[in-house]
Amino acid sequence: MTMRRVSIFGSTGSIGQSTIDLIRRDAQSYDVVALTGGANVDLLAHDARALCAEVAVTCYEDRLPALRDALAGTGIEAAAGEAALVEAAARPADWIMSAIVGAAGLAPGMTALAQGTTLALANKESLVTAGPLLMETAKAHGTKVLPVDSEHSAVFQALVGEDIQSVERIIITASGGPFRDWSHAQLEQATLSQALKHPSWDMGQRITIDSASMFNKALEIIETKEFFGVVPAQIEVLVHPGSTVHALVGFCDGALMAHLGVPDMRHAIGYALHHPDRRMLPVARLDLAALGTLHFEAPDERRFPALRLAREVMETGGLAGAVFNAAKEAALDLFIAEKIAFTDMAILVERVLAEMSSGVGLGKGSITLDTVRESDSEARARVFEASGTN
Ligand code: NAD
Ligand code: MG
Repeated sequence: MTMRRVSIFGSTGSIGQSTIDLIRRDAQSYDVVALTGGANVDLLAHDARALCAEVAVTCYEDRLPALRDALAGTGIEAAAGEAALVEAAARPADWIMSAIVGAAGLAPGMTALAQGTTLALANKESLVTAGPLLMETAKAHGTKVLPVDSEHSAVFQALVGEDIQSVERIIITASGGPFRDWSHAQLEQATLSQALKHPSWDMGQRITIDSASMFNKALEIIETKEFFGVVPAQIEVLVHPGSTVHALVGFCDGALMAHLGVPDMRHAIGYALHHPDRRMLPVARLDLAALGTLHFEAPDERRFPALRLAREVMETGGLAGAVFNAAKEAALDLFIAEKIAFTDMAILVERVLAEMSSGVGLGKGSITLDTVRESDSEARARVFEASGTN
């Protein structure tokens, strides 16, 4: 059997580590090309050694000496910085996991697609900022993009053998996060440590806070539109605290197909790794009788304005997604630094979106890597300015 050449971008993160877990269980089937991470070069080097990677890349230039030290004598190349990430994505590979967090995942993903590598996409920000560009690039190069976000993997699986034209609606579920029942007054006082306590999923810090604010679901609504090519009116969000049902697809004949499973990302990662086959995966099996009931409720867009903002972004189109995502990332940085309140994140994002939508018109801007980068920088700068912090 030929070995599959695979790379993992964001290998030191939550999705990256789960991907490595699956690959290590069947190590003789894979030839690992590149692993990439951030400041944690010890973990990056440890995994690069364990998987005999060709190259390890940290996104931080000042971490290169430490990465070199950690890889000394192994023959594994060490590199750093944005250009090195793109260079690593250009190395021939059959499959790459895109699990960098944030807009920084876009350029390596585009590079991989352009050279024909299948892209397993956890980095939803790529689709939010530049969905049409990403999907067109995949099409132009005859390459596959496979969703790794649990909801989108669920929808993708429910659509096997179906015609997208017969889909009436797509329902993605949301756990509701730790603040599902909180009043607006309570949300205003929510602290960082409270936002980091997710009730059902164990994920990276940033997506965990985005789940508490529902910005994660807002990004996922846009991700659904871009990935499946449906119109916004077909996309619904359903609050489901147990995170057992990941998504549902409603068809024109009234059938509703649901995808259920335990909240373990190794299912969606494994599905994308083995697609179009299914293989045994080390995830716990659901015991529905033990679970007893499944609970659902409607989302509250007044307490969680991110959901409403996502609809506005889709309405505007063009570069609005890039602005929305970047403004959210900048506001999240400020919340993590404990410089703004939890509810200020949505206020700042809404304000910057409104500012940048007036005048030339965001919706008309063509989406290229350069225009996305420009909109991204401007949105971040405006958030910092509007926040009055320094
Ligand atoms: P994480 O914070 O645990 O890991 C992020 C990875 O990206 C790390 O390897 C980090 O070093 C790297 N990174 C951070 N900033 C970078 C930059 N500027 N340039 C290059 N690399 C950088 O995040 P995660 O929870 O694993 O999430 C990764 C992606 O997957 C995100 O887009 C997230 O929305 C998506 N996702 C995650 C989950 C989950 O369960 N964790 C579920 C669905 C989707
Ligand atoms: Mg998700």
